[in-house]
Amino acid sequence: MNPPYLLFDVGGTDIKAALCDDAGNLLGIRRVPTRRDTAQPAETLIEQLHGLGSDVMAEAPALRPAAVGLLVCGLVDEQRGRGLFSANLGWRDAPLRDMAARAFGLPVGFGHDVAMAGAAELEFGAGAALGSKVRNAVMLVIGTGVAAALFVDGRPVSAGGYAGELGHAAVPGGLDCPCGAHGCLETLGSAGAIARRYAQATGTQVRGAREVLEAMAAGDPTAARIWDEAVQAIAFSIAQLSASIAPEAVIIGGGLAQAGEALLEPLRHSVRSRLSYHREPLIVPAQLGEDAGLRGAFLKAAEALGAKP
Ligand SMILES: [Zn+2]
Repeated sequence: MNPPYLLFDVGGTDIKAALCDDAGNLLGIRRVPTRRDTAQPAETLIEQLHGLGSDVMAEAPALRPAAVGLLVCGLVDEQRGRGLFSANLGWRDAPLRDMAARAFGLPVGFGHDVAMAGAAELEFGAGAALGSKVRNAVMLVIGTGVAAALFVDGRPVSAGGYAGELGHAAVPGGLDCPCGAHGCLETLGSAGAIARRYAQATGTQVRGAREVLEAMAAGDPTAARIWDEAVQAIAFSIAQLSASIAPEAVIIGGGLAQAGEALLEPLRHSVRSRLSYHREPLIVPAQLGEDAGLRGAFLKAAEALGAKP
């Protein structure tokens, strides 16, 4: 049993908030657009969280949260409790943990959204489903871009917030990237890139990678080529990881993971073809869906109290 926690998962487009009761149930889940304020981004965020927190707590007034779990996007220094940089939301080296602790009058467990979604998948989701405790793993979140969380010998690799930027590491055939580098994985192997490249190649606008997958299933060779190039790019990155940190499992989440075996099966095949004596990782889908971040925030709230989840 845990005390109740107040949980927030702050992304570039929306914020998820919930109250977690002592049995681990998420109550009063809210999802609202993240407010933008370029002049005072950190202050505006904390103000919005405070309002959201009140709304969520009003749904179960008997529950008094004992701690807050707060995850944010961008570059995050978990140790120092600071949001170093968010391209979307605009803060620079903001002491978000301490600001939240002051606003709520509670201990705050603070972390990075993708890193903690990965930790939650290992603890409660895909990692737990693999049975024996996985100590070396990578969570790849493939959506508009590609984000990653790395776990080596049972520990998350943070490097002051700079680790896990796999989406912005070059792959063969990669294109110019808005980040300023050339060849980034995101330019081929993201759901965003698949949709964009298909529209450019065919002149047909599509709403997302799902429509490209449907076109491929209907026999469209351009769709098949672009899908394959995405798979090859992701497989290249996974093979590099196999040689550098040798994960036992690669957990695939994000919008593109909804393609299921249409993505995973060719991905496994391509990764296998690139490896020799290396440890071949299990490539499995994420299981917690949109709640992975809130579950990760739960782990951080428990950590803030020194409790074991
Ligand atoms: Zn880039």
